[in-house]
Amino acid sequence: MYIYPDIVEGFHCELCGTCCRNDWQVTLDEASYERNRQYFSRVNNLQEMEQAFVVMTHNQAIGEYAYIRKQESGACWFLSGNNLCRLHKKAGHQHLDAVCQTFPRYPMNTQRGIEVTLSFSCPAVLRRIQRLEPLRIVRSEKPPVEFLPENYVASVFPGQQAKFTPLYYYFELEHHFIDIVQCRGLSIAGRLELLEKTVRKLEAGKPGETFGQWLQQQIYQNYAYMDSLTEQNLSLAEVLVEHFFVNFLFKKPLYLYGLIPAVALLVHMWQEIETMQRGKGEKDRISATQAAINNLELEYGHDRQRLLVWMAKR
Ligand code: SF4
Repeated sequence: MYIYPDIVEGFHCELCGTCCRNDWQVTLDEASYERNRQYFSRVNNLQEMEQAFVVMTHNQAIGEYAYIRKQESGACWFLSGNNLCRLHKKAGHQHLDAVCQTFPRYPMNTQRGIEVTLSFSCPAVLRRIQRLEPLRIVRSEKPPVEFLPENYVASVFPGQQAKFTPLYYYFELEHHFIDIVQCRGLSIAGRLELLEKTVRKLEAGKPGETFGQWLQQQIYQNYAYMDSLTEQNLSLAEVLVEHFFVNFLFKKPLYLYGLIPAVALLVHMWQEIETMQRGKGEKDRISATQAAINNLELEYGHDRQRLLVWMAKR
């Protein structure tokens, strides 16, 4: 089973080269480094291998062995003037490092199946979310896009969590939290307030045989409240934030980092977006919101180290 937000279906890279110019470091594990060494040796160009790949001597995370050097312009070593990757052109797609083969796809291995979404730091993805219609979560027997098998960004198996704790019921919660984030009877701030209130209540719930039943009651109470509200007219800028938060929740930070820290990060991100939107007319608010989403995705969606540091401070 494949599960994904509907924007993933039929996504294709538009070769704009933005991701090859981003301020991040593309790292490789030792096996990928060796694969490249063999390739450059075969094509008699070990000199470029030495220039392009830098073996890391400190600060490496698990699986990081080397990184790809950048050009003076800040672009990836292999990016050519027409936004094409020279390594891709010469050695083929299968040869590329996993991150280059996968981005902007975000595949996860979960108890429900294979789940996949997209990174909102890709301009082609940002264009896909320019719509007022809510994002839909789709279930299908077919993958919505091609991606590397067995190269998952996260593993999510709530059945392995302690019984009678919120994370044991993770998928019910994710579904419910996405409904809260898409509740158009509330402002964005109102939705986050309800999320915060709910996670605090759940974390304070008493573990025991009746926990699951009690959790369902909390969820029903929220639905009764949300159903009593009248849908508001929303601007596209607000809806973009809604889409960004739905996608954020779908990436499972609640499971990976805990309910309270993940919701605190949502609140923090909303404050940053609001700051960028302040004092702007509708048209400028849309571009300010897109810029804020792009920055936040780069800051917290790709830089796991930074995310962990932020979470640890909660
Ligand atoms: S930013 Fe998106 S559209 Fe542009 S090259 Fe990267 S994946 Fe393709």
